[in-house]
Amino acid sequence: MATYDAESLIIAKRDGDALPLDGIRWFIERYTAGAIPEEQASALLMAIYFQGMDGEELAAWTQAMIDSGIRVDHSSLGRVTVDKHSTGGVGDKVSLILCPLVAACAPGKVAVPQLAGRALGHTGGTIDKMEAIPHWSPTLSADAMRTALLEVGAVIAAATGEIAPADKKLYALRDITGTVPSIPLIASSIMSKKIASGTEHLVLDVKVGRGAFMKTEADARLLAETMVDIGNRAGVATRALLTRMDRPLGWAVGNTIEVDESHEILRGEPNDSRSDDLREVTLALATEMLDLAGVGGSDPASILVSGQAWGTWHRMVEAQGGDAKAPRLRAAHERTLDAPRAGFVADLDALDVGIATMRLGAGRLTLDDEISLGAGVEILAKPGTEVEAGEPVLKLLTDDEDRYADALPLLERALTIGDEAPDLPPLVIDRIG
Ligand code: URA
Repeated sequence: MATYDAESLIIAKRDGDALPLDGIRWFIERYTAGAIPEEQASALLMAIYFQGMDGEELAAWTQAMIDSGIRVDHSSLGRVTVDKHSTGGVGDKVSLILCPLVAACAPGKVAVPQLAGRALGHTGGTIDKMEAIPHWSPTLSADAMRTALLEVGAVIAAATGEIAPADKKLYALRDITGTVPSIPLIASSIMSKKIASGTEHLVLDVKVGRGAFMKTEADARLLAETMVDIGNRAGVATRALLTRMDRPLGWAVGNTIEVDESHEILRGEPNDSRSDDLREVTLALATEMLDLAGVGGSDPASILVSGQAWGTWHRMVEAQGGDAKAPRLRAAHERTLDAPRAGFVADLDALDVGIATMRLGAGRLTLDDEISLGAGVEILAKPGTEVEAGEPVLKLLTDDEDRYADALPLLERALTIGDEAPDLPPLVIDRIG
């Protein structure tokens, strides 16, 4: 590989030129090894923030991040692998239902190897939710993962430090240099980890709206197109759904209570209309995953109602030491937020609910914060529901009553009561790729 110097790369990008592809590899390798000073890496990130990267640069940048660690190889499984990634939302417990559901739709043909993350800021994390299940362990050896994928068909596990270590270092630097909200940097960060985790097919759930990372449809579409392009160039068949995240998904926002809601759906109980939006997004993603993987498979809606995904879920949890039947940790305190007047729940702002849930203890501001599994917000009356004055609309759950003071004003602001039932737009906006 030719030798470069960091300053020339910074100047080239600052002036709007494309970076040489082996210069990108040189930079990522040296930065990960600690051989490029943080000042120069910061300057390059800021230049990329303003000037962007074209498809070829982005493919090289992502590939170099993948090559900074291991790329898991599931080819000896003899199964078609397919995974899903969500850009993060409020009440988004889709993975808990989707992974066992897809496995149950095409048993013996498909495997879902999902490496997931933890809550940060206003969005929850799949690993924290899974940890609400007593004794469940997020780590498993490569052999145990292989056995679970063969015997159960789906695994959810925490990503290890061996997956795209360059991203960990770059993300920490972006976090303190104002360079997180750059579409090429976000897309390469997400895709390097997903591609390195070894799936052959990937469906992205790119959320749009107040509670999402991408606030506008135009930004979400660009992010989705960028990630789909990166995936396909790297040999991972990739598609994306754009889905709305203006209001929380389902009735539960937290950890233990999100497992509760997932259990209701996995048991095949279609009675609680508060979960209709969650069920709709989950089924749309399951249909895409099965179609993209080309494994045929049964209709996900019928498999859900039949309870077959429920059986797969138990085996999946048990494979990692968990006991889905054991009592889960509950919050020590609860109180309600009641409708200030009669009318319809016209709106519930997902961002405010997400931040309030974090303030009640269920989430974290920095990766080192402790979380409370039992804390959260239960939505008793979803948007569209008619309520009387004084009727409870939200239930706040916490281990520390002092936290109500920080969460309540946000929830009061999040809730709108109107005179008419709101027109709720379709959840799935578009499919990309
Ligand atoms: N999630 C990631 O993994 N990376 C980003 O850059 C943003 C969100």
